[in-house]
Amino acid sequence: MRSINFWVDGKPLESTTQRWGAVYNPATGEQTAQTPFATPAEVETVIASATEASKKWGRMSISRRTEVLFAFRHLVFAHREELAALVTAEHGKTLDDALGEVSRGLENIEYACGLASHLKGGFTSQVSTGIDVHSLRQPVGVVAGITPFNFPVMVPMWMTANAIACGNAMILKPSEKDPSASMRIAELLSEAGLPDGVFNVLHGDAEIVGTLLEHPGVGAISFVGSTPIAKSIYERGTSAGKRVQALGGAKNHMLVLPDADIGVAADAAVSAAYGSAGERCMAISVIVAVGAVADPLIDAIAERMAALRVGAGDEEGTEMGPLISKIHRDKVASYVEGAAAEGAKVCVDGSNLEVAAANKGGFFFGPSLIDNVRPGMKVYDDEIFGPVLSVVRVDTFDEGVDVINSNRYGNGVAIFTRDGGAARQFTVDVTCGMVGVNVPIPVPVASYSFGGWKDSLFGDTHMYGPAGIEFFTRSKVVTTRWPDPSSSEVNLGFPKTR
Ligand code: NAD
Repeated sequence: MRSINFWVDGKPLESTTQRWGAVYNPATGEQTAQTPFATPAEVETVIASATEASKKWGRMSISRRTEVLFAFRHLVFAHREELAALVTAEHGKTLDDALGEVSRGLENIEYACGLASHLKGGFTSQVSTGIDVHSLRQPVGVVAGITPFNFPVMVPMWMTANAIACGNAMILKPSEKDPSASMRIAELLSEAGLPDGVFNVLHGDAEIVGTLLEHPGVGAISFVGSTPIAKSIYERGTSAGKRVQALGGAKNHMLVLPDADIGVAADAAVSAAYGSAGERCMAISVIVAVGAVADPLIDAIAERMAALRVGAGDEEGTEMGPLISKIHRDKVASYVEGAAAEGAKVCVDGSNLEVAAANKGGFFFGPSLIDNVRPGMKVYDDEIFGPVLSVVRVDTFDEGVDVINSNRYGNGVAIFTRDGGAARQFTVDVTCGMVGVNVPIPVPVASYSFGGWKDSLFGDTHMYGPAGIEFFTRSKVVTTRWPDPSSSEVNLGFPKTR
């Protein structure tokens, strides 16, 4: 059995642990590797290495840091197919989808390459007589990133690119379910000239994360994962005095108005609900159909679903791959199985899916469509994180917005309409952090920042882009006077500026 290593001090480190997690090929169900869960001593080793490296890296010139990031960008681009293949082998998504995530990760590196402008401070001359003020942004020191299974390249890149650009040393704790891409990222960063110890990879579960959360050597925690864990990480990390951003789960709605183009809306719904088997935090999982649009829209969606090709992610022509694990597959299936008893109507049941003989042991569940779903049903209230699309029928635009705004999550949302006024009103009224107008998966480009509202994000800063620069730096303001000894005097009053 292949054992995954840690990446410490610019090289792989074999673990001495007794606790391991399993990595599967989700298309066959076979175990392909094992992930070590770091021992407390191994966590200490990584933090010590990162602490040492952070001292020098944080003081290294911006031009040198930029050079490393440019080289890294070039290497990730050159190795994009290899990275995508690693993702497909352990996550299950199609190669094309995996390439898409690598390219969205690249955007974050490209953004970070502009660190010379991102780290610019301000300067104001003569704020008081003979006194100037300037501000600067400095690295936090050692920062940790904890990432989910569903984007093994892109989400680590959301954090790593800016964290390193800002002069921090980073400890990445990727998902134990698909750890290989992180190790390849570490090799590429080394090859790009990143000094040893600036980027480290540690594997493990809740225990390791707990140590990172409480360790005084770690200054900031950037987390992406499910809501209950995001909330607990935020609470534990902040009470230990750390800066924390913790992005959680989602239930993303797509409001379809009666004037929408049915074909366009159905194409978007199918792509956004079943792409990556619904294992995207920005997947559309609920259609809110206004008035008479529901019936023709459901027919158009069902027609497209029947043509979807489900199979192994590395097979030519596959559009949707398996889920990450058997446990998760069975959990997704249980929502569809229970939907009818809750009063909903199962239009397409993914458990009827037939796969090729070679994939019989794989974690497959077919695309599913459920009508007459209402808030209060489990199938609506829970984040299913699988290829299950619900339809909630409403009579009016306002009722649709109420349904969306009453949901506990507020990650992504979309409206499909040809009415500009209604779309504009929607963007103002809706309580979600990322809104698409005729765009079903409105993941912001890297020069903006990513983040949801409500239970989809704990903390004040969004991820990557300008918010990422803010998160990974501490600001400092310097007030300067070069005194003239002839006018210097003792004055115990509070400094005045006038
Ligand atoms: P998860 O919460 O189970 O795991 C995320 C990370 O936390 C992993 O590295 C895992 O090892 C670690 N972890 C697990 N249990 C822990 C615990 N008790 N204490 C501390 N750390 C723990 O999430 P997942 O199943 O890997 O990923 C899917 C979830 O991530 C979904 O809910 C999805 O919506 C969410 N997600 C959100 C975003 C976003 O941007 N908001 C993006 C991608 C995924």
